[in-house]
Amino acid sequence: MQNITPGRLSLTLAEPADIKIESIKGVGPKSAVKLKERGLLDQLELLLFTPRKYYKCAHHYPGPQLKAERRARAEFYAPIIQVKKPAPNTRQPVEVTLDHEGQWFKLLWFNMGKASFVRELEPGRWMRVAGEISYDRTIPTMLHPDFEVIGDHAPAEILEPRLSVGAIYTVIEGFGDAKMRKAIRQAFDALASKLGDVVPREVLEARNLPGIAQALATIHMFSAFEDVETFQVELGRARDRLVYEEFYTLQRKLALDYAAARAQAKAPACTDRERGRAAVRGLPFQLTGDQRAALKTIADDLSQAFPMRRLLQGDVGSGKTVVALTAAAIVAGSGQQSALMAPTEILARQHLARAREFLRPHGVKMGFLGGSLSAGERRDTLKMLERGEYDLIVGTHSLFSDDVVFKNLGLVIVDEQHKFGVEQRESLLTKGEDPHLLSMTATPIPRSLAHSVFGDMDLSVIREKPPGRQPVRTVLRDREVAPKVYRYVRQRIEERGEQAFFVYPMVEASEASPHLKNVVEMHGMLSEGPLQGLGVGLLHGKLDPAEKDRVMEAFAAGELHALCATTVIEVGVDVANATLMVIESPEVFGLSQLHQLRGRVGRGDAASMCVLLAGERLTDIAAERLVSFQATDDGFVLAEADLRLRGPGQFLGVRQAGHAEFRFGDLTRDEDMLSQAREDARRVVLRPTD
Ligand code: ADP
Ligand code: MG
Repeated sequence: MQNITPGRLSLTLAEPADIKIESIKGVGPKSAVKLKERGLLDQLELLLFTPRKYYKCAHHYPGPQLKAERRARAEFYAPIIQVKKPAPNTRQPVEVTLDHEGQWFKLLWFNMGKASFVRELEPGRWMRVAGEISYDRTIPTMLHPDFEVIGDHAPAEILEPRLSVGAIYTVIEGFGDAKMRKAIRQAFDALASKLGDVVPREVLEARNLPGIAQALATIHMFSAFEDVETFQVELGRARDRLVYEEFYTLQRKLALDYAAARAQAKAPACTDRERGRAAVRGLPFQLTGDQRAALKTIADDLSQAFPMRRLLQGDVGSGKTVVALTAAAIVAGSGQQSALMAPTEILARQHLARAREFLRPHGVKMGFLGGSLSAGERRDTLKMLERGEYDLIVGTHSLFSDDVVFKNLGLVIVDEQHKFGVEQRESLLTKGEDPHLLSMTATPIPRSLAHSVFGDMDLSVIREKPPGRQPVRTVLRDREVAPKVYRYVRQRIEERGEQAFFVYPMVEASEASPHLKNVVEMHGMLSEGPLQGLGVGLLHGKLDPAEKDRVMEAFAAGELHALCATTVIEVGVDVANATLMVIESPEVFGLSQLHQLRGRVGRGDAASMCVLLAGERLTDIAAERLVSFQATDDGFVLAEADLRLRGPGQFLGVRQAGHAEFRFGDLTRDEDMLSQAREDARRVVLRPTD
């Protein structure tokens, strides 16, 4: 799996052209440096230098009603009636008075006494001016307006009295709006007809998007439009076009990579669907529609000679494991081995237990590889694996070791894929000829992010929960009521035999964050106080692996009533009898992480509850997060909210992985367009050549 940084969108040329920034009239060597410093390296970049904003402008000064608009701008022709030039060596401004159909205007320029244009300013001459009008002085005034001295006569052209729109660019030294627009206009006139369009015409038509040249003309306002409303509609489409351009460019590259990988690959075609069906028939429950659909797609992928690259995305408890194990059955039936890798030994062992129950009756032989094995056990396991006596190996990171050798690895399954690095997945893939890959994530990645960051993966989504699941009731409470919450938990444990998790952000007390609860102290407090006499376990990352397993197994077996833990329990662990979760200092967790934690309860038929005990130091954003968390049980909705509140960089820590940052597009706002661009790029690139 590849993480993509799309880089800056750039335009392409269909035929050669001079695109040097210096070739623009009026851009000397000095201004060229200025422009380049701002990233405007050539004329193509200049075309993508889009206005910062637009303003309404009255052609033909419409009178006092304009005054009501805060940023009133006007553009009109008028004759000069008076000019005051500054006396030499004074700081007086250049001052011009115009008469626009009876309304007088003053134009002011400071520190420009020596500028050459001043010589052209003479009473009786006509000017075209455009600028912002200030009403601070006795007569309406324009400071440093854009202007042109047009001669001694009224112009033939008459500006129709109408409202129009003007563009404002981010100022680059020496380039006011007028000069910038002129430069862009020149680049546009020279290049518009030569621009290449990466997006095929038929796609543009289907999506009702303008061509790139037309979009740029609208954005820089080179094309005429009837009225402001029409312009706004056109501008919307033009901006959409740039966003689409950006997404399409990326998706096209991804699709090409994908096609190239597919063309050379020689993955084992695993076609024993019957073995998978038999296993599914043996389940004590019916698969959900989403599970069946995912399974069908995966079985199709497995039967091909190019390797599957699929991300199976499903909310916590949606039942991804059965789907993955069924895939392993198909692969085993086709004489190939599978490896199932989980981020923790607890989870790996849980998978193994499930796999045994589910697949053993169907002749799938399996082994386990994890850090807790003795040297002898490990040696034996590796030998069996290499000889092909295991069809499925379940394990942890230890599967990456160099001494792990497969006879014929046909399928790699990665559970909780975001817990592994890209290289780790890749290194496991190199242990086979060209194995299939099924990555699973219980952290729902918003589709937009999946499509950009994990763009070369196909995506299957399980949205439906198995029937009979009750949503977890989530309540947000102040820390002050903690004693009441503890009493309530105790009561449910004693009366109904249920089990509870207590979750803390810290292992031990920390000087840096004294206000955060830590698991060691709270375990002591709870087991000696409110939960005295009950079995209360302690689980955190600093315990040695054997101890962690022991605690987790005791909890899973019901020997412990409560478990005080850090987020080590966040991934995957499945204890159906656990119905209560208390999260202390919940404000430090991200929404998706909270959702992962909450997913540890509500896995059986009983009604479950999650209590957030928030401290006093709650910022508004933290409070907003917790309230939205309380409001929905849908991991996808939460993941999207997380993306909005924290941005893609923070989400899943993808920043380190090089996350998708776009120039025009926004993953949250333009999600639909990203999906469309992906769909289109794939259809165009992967279309069968006939
Ligand atoms: P996750 O997608 O979070 O990894 P699991 O695969 O661990 O979820 O499944 C959660 C629980 O739901 C397991 O106990 C599993 O046996 C059960 N399960 C999975 N699919 C179904 C189904 N279709 N009907 C009922 N229970 C199911
Ligand atoms: Mg799971």
